[in-house]
Amino acid sequence: MKIRKSFVTNSSSSCYVCHFCGESASGWDIGIREAGMYMCENEHVLCKEHYGEISEEKIYDYYRKYLIDEIYKCYIVDDDLINNTREIKRRISTTTNFFKMLKEMEKSYYGAQDLDDYVEEYDNVKEFVEENFDFSYNVPSVFCPVCNFEKILDYEGFQYLLKITGHTEKTLLEKIKKEFKSHDEFMKFNRKT
Ligand SMILES: [Zn+2]
Ligand SMILES: [Zn+2]
Repeated sequence: MKIRKSFVTNSSSSCYVCHFCGESASGWDIGIREAGMYMCENEHVLCKEHYGEISEEKIYDYYRKYLIDEIYKCYIVDDDLINNTREIKRRISTTTNFFKMLKEMEKSYYGAQDLDDYVEEYDNVKEFVEENFDFSYNVPSVFCPVCNFEKILDYEGFQYLLKITGHTEKTLLEKIKKEFKSHDEFMKFNRKT
């Protein structure tokens, strides 16, 4: 008997869960962007709405400064550099690349200024940083509400409470077990205001 081969594709199911509200989004081959979420550089995955409005201007200012800082670093010359041809080449290619990115980003923000300027590749800065910096997977921590103590995640808060009360998960469980006859009773206590 011939067994029908299952349909083979390279797609896979992905699921993203918001660390803050627990909302999840899943689908075939969806990225975090399609899921309507962002992940910051410290790996906090949150629904976009928790991040509040991240304006084009803020994004532009952030990456502009980032690129300029990186370019600046390439111009710092020390004694070791003189004999390090590989490093010199790397810096030349980095600066060339980053200057190009700066110009491209400027165009995505202000629009092409010069009529001779070649066609704009990106509609806006968000699209530019999405393509060039993988923004949705790599949101700089300055934009993340958790990294900025505007929101606290359950597990981070829990860890902190253990620390300041001198408990470990084990001693906490022992205490709970001693004080409550059942999980119901425990939850009732937790809900009491
Ligand atoms: Zn959420
Ligand atoms: Zn964060």
